[in-house]
Amino acid sequence: MTDTLTPREAFEMLLAGNQRFITGAPEHPNQDAARRAQLAPGQNPFAVLFGCSDSRLAAEIIFDRGLGDLFVVRTAGHVMGPEVLGSVEYGVSVLGCPLVVVLGHDACGAVAATRAAVDGGATGEGFVRDVIERVTPSVLASRAAGHVEDADFIDEHVRCSVDLLLDRSRALAEAVDQGRTAVVGLAYRLTDGTARLVTARGLDQTPVPV
Ligand SMILES: [Zn+2]
Repeated sequence: MTDTLTPREAFEMLLAGNQRFITGAPEHPNQDAARRAQLAPGQNPFAVLFGCSDSRLAAEIIFDRGLGDLFVVRTAGHVMGPEVLGSVEYGVSVLGCPLVVVLGHDACGAVAATRAAVDGGATGEGFVRDVIERVTPSVLASRAAGHVEDADFIDEHVRCSVDLLLDRSRALAEAVDQGRTAVVGLAYRLTDGTARLVTARGLDQTPVPV
């Protein structure tokens, strides 16, 4: 089924699941033994989900999906290095996902720690420092734009992450140019479970015939 999904259809499917989760009427699709057996020979997920590792952001729960639906990559503060880029490219180029989602959220610890570090606080121990360093450009961009609210910092970090993803990954940029894949940046709200669209690339593009 997902073979034929356009980026727009994949996005609508993702939002429909989030809507079920928000309203407290989840269907828990694709979580039974039949689905497990059906998928054993191979996977065909409809989206790559690259989000923050925060324990409150469990991808299949907040989008009401199941096995084989989402190719998930999560790091603290959705910061990216080669492994993340390789994983996203695998999802797009090898698995053919028509959608890539960058998922940030309010009250993000990585963003808060980075704001504190920029304000002259602790810059983090060990590899936590690496996370803070990677979030810093987003916080600086947000500062430059005059933002003060947490939500604005989160939106900026989501936008910067989408830009960086497309900047770094040639395979992803080409897939978007050809209309095979869209990239959307979403901001998740912890209190009510909503995933709000912050930015989108290639969502309504007509696929280029091959
Ligand atoms: Zn977070």
